[in-house]
Amino acid sequence: MLHIGFDDTDSLKGNCTTHLATKIIEKIYNKVEFLDYPRLIRNNPNVPWRTRGNGAIAFTLGVKEEDLNEIISLSIDIIEENHQEDPDTNPGLAVIKGNIPLELKVFAQRALTDVISINDAKTIARKLCFRYHLIGNGRGIIGALAAIGNTLTPQEEDFTFELLTYRISHSIGTKRKVDFESIKKMDRELAPLVFNNIDEETGKAIICPAGLDPVLYGIRGEKAEVLLKALEIVQIEEPMEAYCIFRTNQGTDQHFKYSISAIRNFNTFKGEIEVVDTPKTLVGGHIIFKGMVTESSKIVDVAAFEPSKSFRRIIEKLMIGDKILAYGSVRYKKEFQSFTIQLEKCEIIKIEEQFKEESPFCPNCGKRMTSDGKEKGYKCRKCKYKNRHISKLKIPIEREIQLGVYIPPAQSQRHLVKPLIRYNLPSKNAFHFVNNWWKKYSSN
Ligand code: ATP
Repeated sequence: MLHIGFDDTDSLKGNCTTHLATKIIEKIYNKVEFLDYPRLIRNNPNVPWRTRGNGAIAFTLGVKEEDLNEIISLSIDIIEENHQEDPDTNPGLAVIKGNIPLELKVFAQRALTDVISINDAKTIARKLCFRYHLIGNGRGIIGALAAIGNTLTPQEEDFTFELLTYRISHSIGTKRKVDFESIKKMDRELAPLVFNNIDEETGKAIICPAGLDPVLYGIRGEKAEVLLKALEIVQIEEPMEAYCIFRTNQGTDQHFKYSISAIRNFNTFKGEIEVVDTPKTLVGGHIIFKGMVTESSKIVDVAAFEPSKSFRRIIEKLMIGDKILAYGSVRYKKEFQSFTIQLEKCEIIKIEEQFKEESPFCPNCGKRMTSDGKEKGYKCRKCKYKNRHISKLKIPIEREIQLGVYIPPAQSQRHLVKPLIRYNLPSKNAFHFVNNWWKKYSSN
């Protein structure tokens, strides 16, 4: 058994690590046995040097002993030849032979939530890898190791699939030609076994990325065979170079499974927070309030940003004393010397009773009374009744929020966040291979 992981081969100027994976698959497919789908692992979404969604790839292969070196060399050559030339692109490839050491599994959990240094990753690579290969500063070794260590073992971890289709090189830079009506049809016919195809608030299709990367569209779902059906339904008006189905931690909340309520810059966060200040709307439509982290009593800002759209409407209705389980990322703001939790999801766990005060009604005639001066109680203007012991009425305010889980609409969800549509699905105990889980059509 051989595990090959790699990361950091692309930049915003071009390429995509998943696309490079298809190039390696094409070269090695006939010489190895794939024991798992290629895994597309999303790591800590807050690391500042990510290109997009901090994705890395791992293969788990059965390889004959005599072919080991050839398979590894082929993979390294493809990364050397095809990675994006860019000062910010620092590819890394890791190879583990045999079973995956526990230390690497722990490393992979940490990569979901913390920021790991290149040196820490290199130490692990030196200790555990059969081979590893670095280009530039080799930062990609972090994601490469983490993708291998994150085995998404059924029954232990939730997982989903993504079918990614790729454009021929000539099309890159032009508008993607994917038929919108066919996307809607695919979603209608296959949801909830596919998810996040259409943004529920804008009605827009969200399966096509923007920009120069070679992905034509991506469809996420619960089973590989359902994604092959989706491939048949979605109509395109440009050539497809290839497609490949990846097994992935997207849409699973896996980063929150390992998150804690420590406040560390660029880490993920999960913890109980009590609202200690009324939410405010900032310029640009962001909502922000002061909260106290229950476990540490630390005061932080908690923010729901403008792109989270209707999610903000819930956050702005929170009031002092309410409690939430906050899920998100931590950012240190130097100018305010304070930490902000940027919400990716929120569960309202306590709604504090709130009251407004009003003048009492006259016990004699029923008219609203007025104050008779400080500490003098109330008087009735109509019947002249006075009573210094009558106090203000406390009227409960009807709260416009309910206990429960809230997440931003599909368009502004991070890759790892579990969409609501997945909450009631039965868990998967296994996966099996479909024929044609990848295919190459043409290169030009
Ligand atoms: P794409 O989604 O398009 O594949 P990307 O967003 O994955 O791109 P990369 O270019 O791969 O971005 O850059 C992410 C970098 O962050 C890689 O070098 C990866 O090794 C590194 N990295 C991943 N997880 C962590 C982590 N937890 N701590 C520090 N660095 C990390």
